[in-house]
Amino acid sequence: MKPDLVQLDKAHVWHPFTQMKDWMNSNPIVLQSGKGAVLKDIHGKKYLDANSSIWTNLHGHNHPKINAAIGAQLKKVAHTSALGFANEPASLLAARLVQMASLKIRAGKKADLKKVFFSDDGSTAMEVALKLAYVHSLRTGISRKPRFLSMQGSYHGDTVGAVSLGHIDLFHKAYSGMLFKSDSVMAPYCYRCPFNQARPEQGDAREYRKCRWECIDAVEKKCTQQRKSRGEPHAAFVFEPLMQGAAGMIPQPKGWLNRIASLVREQGSLLIADEVMTGFGRTGHVVASHQEGVQPDFIALAKGLSGGYLPMAATLTTESVFNSFLGDYSEFKTFFHGHSFTGNQLGAAAGLASLDILESASSLENRQRLTLQLETGLRELSKLEHVGDVRQQGLVAGVELVKDWHQRTPYDLREKAGIKVCEEMSSEGVLTRSIGNVIVLMPPYCTTSSQLQKILDVLKKSIRKVLGGC
Ligand SMILES: *Cc1c(COP(=O)(O)O)cnc(C)c1O
Repeated sequence: MKPDLVQLDKAHVWHPFTQMKDWMNSNPIVLQSGKGAVLKDIHGKKYLDANSSIWTNLHGHNHPKINAAIGAQLKKVAHTSALGFANEPASLLAARLVQMASLKIRAGKKADLKKVFFSDDGSTAMEVALKLAYVHSLRTGISRKPRFLSMQGSYHGDTVGAVSLGHIDLFHKAYSGMLFKSDSVMAPYCYRCPFNQARPEQGDAREYRKCRWECIDAVEKKCTQQRKSRGEPHAAFVFEPLMQGAAGMIPQPKGWLNRIASLVREQGSLLIADEVMTGFGRTGHVVASHQEGVQPDFIALAKGLSGGYLPMAATLTTESVFNSFLGDYSEFKTFFHGHSFTGNQLGAAAGLASLDILESASSLENRQRLTLQLETGLRELSKLEHVGDVRQQGLVAGVELVKDWHQRTPYDLREKAGIKVCEEMSSEGVLTRSIGNVIVLMPPYCTTSSQLQKILDVLKKSIRKVLGGC
């Protein structure tokens, strides 16, 4: 007899970010296979993967090239340790990432990130950046008591260091007693701004822009304050470039990141870019920071690094940071950090194949086509009575649900508006997950035009069915 998978799951599996009481009373979907943008459950029902399996998948499921790369690697060896040994795919991937992350800043002059530290997921990539920045700033005298600056609403992962940098109360408050203190600054987006981007006739655009730029002043103030009260700058400014993901898909206005980056650099602080969600073309450029002409001192990559196939992450950094850890063995300046699966051969092989696909002309074309189509579809959606703000950056979109868009009254989280809309969507064959009242759309790059149209149509229909209105 076949095991009852739902029963086994309910008996033993504890799901992330899930109220298990609700889960126990639900009828969970058991996914079994996938092809391209489509996933199939154990009953043969098909779904479109509208959030790329929580923002990880780049080119679709079961991609022949990534499958082949993993298969070929598997015939050689699945995993060997990077503690003491090198391996082919990890070396090749490191070189490719360095090449991908190099940025011409002026004619001929390049700002390079030369070194790659591999780990397993976004959180560990951020922990690595954090520890490296901490020690580097101590050893170079940037600071005696390294303190970090990050953004309100920021999310950098769920390990304790990453949580210390995070500023989403719902996720982070419960752990406040076990965290180190970090400073936060307002993100350049006022949620309840008098102006709605989607409906310019509803308010004063100048107010809106003014309010966004005020956030630059806020960063400046914070930096000066730090200097005054502690006599040294922040060790590093930590940010999600272009779009803050878990905050609810909060975009930054053009030019903002560039201004902030130079301001923070003038203070003498390092820049840590968390590109775990934004990287690999999701928000436009392959490296999101480059879209603003910013070359950080650290870039954290994960989710899409292996095409979304295997847990694999990387922290890229400069030669200068690397040098802070060089010395005679007896000086013990070694970076004492590592993971069992650091430099995993299967993950690296998948990563190489994924980069090949990403850099192909057809992938770029697809991304551009989908971005435009998403833009058009979102414009339609923004006309719905229960849609407030609609935000897009490349192939990432957040659709905010509101009780009443005249007042932009939010739904109380306890009303579960986002969760209910997603449930309705899934019954119509489209899978995504909301962040509070924000529905996320983040289709894989292989999504066809008709598939994206279906995603948009189902979202529209579901909002109307669940929340009413026209
Ligand atoms: C998902 C995410 C992380 C954490 O990555 P995990 O692989 O889940 O640990 C960190 N930062 C950002 C911006 C993310 O979106």
